Amino acid sequence: IKNIGVFTSGGDAPGMNAAIRAVVRTALFNEKKITAIYQGYQGMIEGNFCEMQSRSVSSIIQKGGTILKSARCLEFKTKEGRQTAFENLQKEGIDALVAIGGDGTFTGANLFSLEYGIPVVCIPGTIDNDLNGSDYTLGYDTANNTVIEAIDKIKDTAASHSRLFFVEVMGRDSGCIALNAGVASGAEAILLPEKDTAISELIDMLETAADKNKSSTIVIVAEGDKNGGAYNVEKHVKQKFDYYDTKVSILGHLQRGGSPSSFDRVLATKMGYHAVQELLKGSTRVTIGIRGNKIVTTPLEEALNKSEFKLDEDLVKIAQVMNI
Ligand code: ADP
Repeated sequence: IKNIGVFTSGGDAPGMNAAIRAVVRTALFNEKKITAIYQGYQGMIEGNFCEMQSRSVSSIIQKGGTILKSARCLEFKTKEGRQTAFENLQKEGIDALVAIGGDGTFTGANLFSLEYGIPVVCIPGTIDNDLNGSDYTLGYDTANNTVIEAIDKIKDTAASHSRLFFVEVMGRDSGCIALNAGVASGAEAILLPEKDTAISELIDMLETAADKNKSSTIVIVAEGDKNGGAYNVEKHVKQKFDYYDTKVSILGHLQRGGSPSSFDRVLATKMGYHAVQELLKGSTRVTIGIRGNKIVTTPLEEALNKSEFKLDEDLVKIAQVMNI
């Protein structure tokens, strides 16, 4: 390996910049060329490359988003698109890749490496924490911190006016943020995409909470909850339960931004370092992950196997106990 290409793709996540920085510096430390590919797969197809130096990544460890930009690129899903991308990499002399992104990015990277034999190591960067192969993905911890900060503020209003708030958080397929932030903020109920919570069941919980003179009531609704999001949940609850004045708050994209937490910065630095080390050791089509505080690798096919991904059932149970 002489020249490693690094790119970010799909949804951005806090910690991506810290990972880019670590990849660049580890490559340079090992006397390899390191080339930034801008806008993910789109940049590969357009030949949007730039050789990086150590100073190219100065003062980015604390920044949210990604300095390399990200893109959703439909063309890369076609054979012709990937052919053009490979030809551009060859012209540039890029002979290995570090891909930072979510499951779409991993799927593309796996396919591309299978087709053209180019070694690729992935780093999981998504706030959703929905990838196998790592206990934590980059950005998840920061997103949780952002969400609990917002809920703490909403709780002040909920308590002052005896209001019932439905707070919608990100997670179309994964309830990780909802569950974790729900526990961390002391929410009364948490609706997850992985669990069917009937409105009648939720109303029972809310009635119990009301009977116990709770000062505020927060229901966390994950984006992908089966009842159709926070507005729908509010509508249905209101029809049958009128103890409280109800409000809905959709946290939206503020959850994706912001300066990465200490945890995400250190994790990103470890992952970036190990991604390059793995490439140099000859690994390919694997993702870097952290399991039990150890950096590990997992084959991409396994990491992409959604059926193996499980919500923390222990925490689901604990969340219920905390609502006594
Ligand atoms: P994320 O990586 O956050 O899941 P996306 O699902 O948008 O985000 O995927 C990022 C990019 O990966 C897509 O825009 C596309 O270029 C590429 N990609 C996704 N799925 C495939 C696929 N099946 N084949 C080839 N490329 C893909």
